[in-house]
Order: sequence, then structure tokens, then C-alpha cells
Amino acid sequence: MNDNLMSVVEQYGTDDKCRACLVALKWPNGIECPRCQSKKAISRIAAREVYDCDSCRYQFSVTAGSIFHDSHLPLTKWFFATYVMVESKKGVSANQLKRMLGVSYKTAWYLCHRIRKAMDEAKPEQIGAGNVVEIDETYVGGKRRHVGAGNLDNKTMVLGALERGGDVRIRVEKKKRASKETLHSFIKENTHDATEMICTDEQPAYNGIQDWNTRHESVNHKAEEWVRGDVHTNGIEGVWSLFKRSIVGSYHQVSAKHLQSYLDEFEWRFNQRENPYLFRDTLVRMLNSPKMEFKELIEKSA
Ligand SMILES: [Zn+2]
Repeated sequence: MNDNLMSVVEQYGTDDKCRACLVALKWPNGIECPRCQSKKAISRIAAREVYDCDSCRYQFSVTAGSIFHDSHLPLTKWFFATYVMVESKKGVSANQLKRMLGVSYKTAWYLCHRIRKAMDEAKPEQIGAGNVVEIDETYVGGKRRHVGAGNLDNKTMVLGALERGGDVRIRVEKKKRASKETLHSFIKENTHDATEMICTDEQPAYNGIQDWNTRHESVNHKAEEWVRGDVHTNGIEGVWSLFKRSIVGSYHQVSAKHLQSYLDEFEWRFNQRENPYLFRDTLVRMLNSPKMEFKELIEKSA
């Protein structure tokens, strides 16, 4: 797929074209009955957009069980929304999507969250085996009534781990401050046992994270030490500034309860930065991720 805007309009401008694309993505080796796995004698009932399996008489559609299913939205709008969310470097807000697609705010918001949901990595692998991982924490959102050091009460702490030249992992923390317990459990959860070196700043809560095959080195930012040989946290700090620009650019304000889903989208897009098949891969994820009702979505994010 060549994914510029004009080619998206050309290739996916009608629901039939979108459906044919989904069929090709779901069954690259030919249409298969989901119940009996037969590939023979599957007939298409065009009027209802379903397939009929001659072996077991099961009827199914390409979108059955996926997040496209039961949606009153035309597939063309799903495709366009996905394209825009995948391609825009800074992310897209529900308001922008509402204007672009000519849908209600509620629908746009729903689309954003469903597409983001599909972008979530089902099971993130640990990063850093045989390599260097940079760890840092940052604070996002909230209004600071009393500006001054140490007053972070309205802000949300976000922890990040970046494998040099590789993937990033970002998590929202419920705790307001970086304790040793919080930082260490984040690192153990997200970095591989065989990480060669963990780089942090001088924050004492990181101390003791090294073990027999993982070094821990830190730079002392308070003493204006930023780089010492290959010890630095410039990579993860670059990720923070990218993320903060993306919040300012598109979301204006991100409520704490939705922050993790924005972070998931950001993380995913960052980790896919060199994937030329991003649009296609997202559609495949959407085909394979279970549908989620509006009510459930609201409950989950509450
Ligand atoms: Zn069958």
C-alpha cells in the first residue's frame, strides 16, 4: 500500500473497496470459514455482505467480531479516520476528526478511542536485551496553582524507558512522587533481564537497580552533567519533548483518566516510526481486536 492521502481516497473511496481490502487482510490465503476452517465452497451473499459456508452452513462477514462490526459508520470513514490517526505525527483530537469526517463529536471521540485501543500492544515485550536502556520520569497535565519546586500535586507522573535505537515503553503512574519501589518495579516490568546498562539521572530512588549482568550509570543533571561517555538520558528526554509537543499541538488538555490511552497511541506510533506498512498493520489489528461497546469503553476509561 502506498499511503498518501490521494491514494487512500482512490483506493478506499467506497465501502466495497474497503471491504475488499479487509477481506484480503483477513484471509490472505483465501476466505476461510471461522467455524469449520473450510476454504472450499464459500459463497458470497452480496446483498447482505456475508459469506455462506457450504460445508457447515455457517454465515459470516469479514468484520464479524471486530471493532468494525455493528458500527453504523461507513467503512470509508473508519479507513479515513485510521489513516489520519496513523499518519499525523502529532496525533489527532476528536474535534479535528469530527470536522474532517462530518460526524458528531460523540462518534469522533468513539472512533479515536476505538482506533487507539487497536493500537495498544496486546503484550508488550521487555526491551533492552544486550543493549542500553534510558529511564526517566516526567510530569504531565494539571494546573499548578502555586508555581514552585516540589509542588506537583495536580500533575500526573509518567515513567518512560527507551532502548537506544529501539522501542519505548511509557506508563502513567498513580503515585505522585518517584519512590524507589515505583521506579524499580517499572524498570523490572519493562526492561529485559539481560539489559547491558540502565542510564538514569541522579534521582536517588534509582539506586540499587543494577545486578550481576546489568550496570546502572547516572548523569548528574543538578551538577549540569548531561553526557559522560555513553552515559546519558538524551534519548528518553527527546521522547518527552516530542510527547509534550504532541499534547500541546493536538489535545490542549488531556484529562488524567485518558492520559494512558494517549500515551499508548504515542508509544505505538513512536515504536512504528520506521514501519512503512503502518496503515495496513493498524487495519489488521482492528480486524483482530474484539469489539468494544460505547458503554464499556466509558466504564473502562472512568
Ligand atoms: Zn464452515
